[in-house]
Amino acid sequence: MSEKRDYYEVLGLSRGASKEEIRTSYRSLARKYHPDKNPDDPEAESRFKELSEAFAILSDDDERRKYDTFGHNSPGGSPFGPGGFQGVNISIDDLFGGDLGGIFSQFFRTSTANRRVKGSDLMVRHSVPFQAIMDGSEDEIEFDALRVCSDCEGEGSKDPSSVRSCPACDGRGRVERVERIGPFTQRVVSDCPSCDGGGRIIQDPCSGCNGLGRATQNKKVRFSVPPGVSNGVRLRMRGHGESSRNHGGESGDLYIEIEVENHEWFERDGSDLLMALPIGFADLLLGTSIQIPHLDGDLLNVKIPAGSNPGDTISIPGRGLPGQGMRGRGEVSVVLKLDIPDKISRADKKRISEMHDILGTNTEIIDDKIREEARRRRGSRRR
Ligand SMILES: [Zn+2]
Ligand SMILES: [Zn+2]
Repeated sequence: MSEKRDYYEVLGLSRGASKEEIRTSYRSLARKYHPDKNPDDPEAESRFKELSEAFAILSDDDERRKYDTFGHNSPGGSPFGPGGFQGVNISIDDLFGGDLGGIFSQFFRTSTANRRVKGSDLMVRHSVPFQAIMDGSEDEIEFDALRVCSDCEGEGSKDPSSVRSCPACDGRGRVERVERIGPFTQRVVSDCPSCDGGGRIIQDPCSGCNGLGRATQNKKVRFSVPPGVSNGVRLRMRGHGESSRNHGGESGDLYIEIEVENHEWFERDGSDLLMALPIGFADLLLGTSIQIPHLDGDLLNVKIPAGSNPGDTISIPGRGLPGQGMRGRGEVSVVLKLDIPDKISRADKKRISEMHDILGTNTEIIDDKIREEARRRRGSRRR
């Protein structure tokens, strides 16, 4: 499936667009792509669905806020379900006059009534040290969430035996009515206004939760960060979100978004590690071996061959980060840099000048040197 387009882009609007702009833009684009005006044109039809979905979300305050925060990756998933928006029948007359908002708010009210049984999903951000990519980590987070009240165990009442069933909805929490939406009639299910969807009437409310059955509580969750974890990954902790506001209903989920802290010298490229190593001129010329403390606990041994140049890369396979799945570890790539001392003493300056014949630039063969350098550069780029 192709990448889902930004809702604002679909409607040709900017993020700050007003409700009126959203409505006007939808109305004119939807008229243009309406299936009645474009019979047997699947492209217009999918454009029309896309427009209607964008409008449905952006014209609903709650859904728009969620979209502005999470984009298409809302933690609870799309309100249209995994299959995406399937379209409602909107007659072309509805796009003129008519109460546009009404068409879609019906749509949401039906779907939220079904969803509301489950508690809301929550998201927290959690940062881990770079080392966690190598080893994984066992962590704990603490956060406040609406959970089942511990004083009344969610009953909402001081005395559970005094709770009555709501007479307006027979304790079902939902009421049904039939409504006309444009040319259609639809059965609309919504929360019972008398009991606010709970199905119960509480006579002596619990003081811990004011009768709501839920109260903000501090909660601790332990979880594992897997080795090889990527920045921005969301771990899903089923049932650790908000408790349902219906007594006994399913709790929402908690999403933990992992932020990996920077390392002091390594950059990450998938399962490979990149770093720059400043080396003195004499060591580049004569070759040497350098040990650096490494993430895996063993020293990283970087062998610099004699005659190395600044910019050369040394690859150390098998010492990078663990790959995803069963793949082995990546490599460490070390780019050599020339380390020029900031200051040298007068005596050292004299000694280096004495070696100038060996170490300095030989102006007689400079053309050859320039050509050779150009050849090397092109050669290394082709690799
Ligand atoms: Zn009721
Ligand atoms: Zn309580």
